[in-house]
Amino acid sequence: MLRKLPSVEAVLQSELIAALTDRYSRPLVVSAVREAVAGERNRIMEGGRTEVSSTAEIAGLVTEILEAKMRRSMRRVVNATGVVLHTNLGRALLAASAVEALAEAATHYTNLEYDLARGKRSTREIHVERLVRDLTGAEACHVVNNNAGAVLLALNSLAEGREVVVSRGELVEIGGSFRLPEVMAKSGSKLVEVGTTNRTTARDYEQAIGKDTAVLLKVHKSNFKMTGFVSEVSLEELVEMGRRKKVLVMEDLGSGAMIDFSLLGLPGEPVVADRVALGVSAVTFSCDKLLGGPQAGLIVGEKGPVKRMKENPLSRALRVDKLSMAALEATLLEILSGPRVRQTMPSVRMIAETAEEVRKRSESLVGRLGPVSDALSVTIVEGISQVGGGALPGADLKTWLISVTSASLDENAIESALREGPVPVVARIGKGAVYLDLRTVLTEEEPVVVDALRRVADVARRKR
Ligand SMILES: *Cc1c(COP(=O)(O)O)cnc(C)c1O
Repeated sequence: MLRKLPSVEAVLQSELIAALTDRYSRPLVVSAVREAVAGERNRIMEGGRTEVSSTAEIAGLVTEILEAKMRRSMRRVVNATGVVLHTNLGRALLAASAVEALAEAATHYTNLEYDLARGKRSTREIHVERLVRDLTGAEACHVVNNNAGAVLLALNSLAEGREVVVSRGELVEIGGSFRLPEVMAKSGSKLVEVGTTNRTTARDYEQAIGKDTAVLLKVHKSNFKMTGFVSEVSLEELVEMGRRKKVLVMEDLGSGAMIDFSLLGLPGEPVVADRVALGVSAVTFSCDKLLGGPQAGLIVGEKGPVKRMKENPLSRALRVDKLSMAALEATLLEILSGPRVRQTMPSVRMIAETAEEVRKRSESLVGRLGPVSDALSVTIVEGISQVGGGALPGADLKTWLISVTSASLDENAIESALREGPVPVVARIGKGAVYLDLRTVLTEEEPVVVDALRRVADVARRKR
């Protein structure tokens, strides 16, 4: 049988395959043919064949392999986890105006680094500098790829070969391998830890300051909360100390809210403008967290220190691309247009949605499921959504969840079935049930969730 199996060469020369090279690159077709022939050979060796496949049958296999290879790996999903700024699912969704700006920059030439008034070379940051100043009150700003890059660049520019004093309570890990001490080491600055995990005092900082101290660094505890016997030194006190001792003070703010989320009844996440007003030399934060923009990192602060960052050769390596820059400018304009951000910025809208609104949408969606009760038990229960993305760690956003259980499928089987459709639905697994939180599901995505739940019901029926 092996001898009768068509060779790779023979399959490649068949007319059926020749037609494929119009649609796919030749090396891809060759590798798919090799894969198909090898697969057939294995099946023969394992005794799984009574007859050798024809060239036409192998060509059919090749087509399937090629189609699978050409499917995009990165696909849209429905986020039913209730985590608004879910890092693994891409963090903030952009406002429509940001998407428009991004698409325009992608499909046309732009004045990215070109001064149209003078017909001369310019900088790409000019497009956001004024907006950032208006929003934060800072003298200067610099944009890089992400906040990790911003911290790296800031420390390298201000403290290479010198000491940076940080409280032991703020040596954080953000997840996805951002560990502050490791980033500091790569910046070439020397970490001087002060205080203890739960308590750090002004005296701890003062005693650590020496002739080699370049920066006092404060780090926002983005993804955890410490309660009990705790104390930390405020940024205000650090700024005062920095002035007295002639060392710079910098803050890694993480999420960087531009609007005051306490107006939405949420516990205060520090607002960038308030931190800048305290007189800090530099503040760094992400643009795709609470800010609601594309992936980027912003550094705002005093002219002198920011200039040193701009002139650092690392800046070029951390340079933000034109698509992100376009989306960032549009996002900042959106924020400057005031209260309408509650409608126009998806992440703000999601955070601001009341539990009552989520409950109504959930009930209406369950009402549209049709007959599934023979296979699934679908109810609506109270729960908590998370902002995520290292923002508002203590903020418990009350919500309502669609709870799904089944007599024939356990929670893991339900959750994975939800992920198997043409548009995967990512949900939360709880004790004995799967929970869907519509806070992070767009209204136009609800039919996808309905289809997914009907499919889970089919799976459950087949399992009975
Ligand atoms: C999220 C976060 C970072 C990393 O920001 P990226 O934009 O993901 O690179 C750094 N520091 C803090 C405190 C954060 O919350």
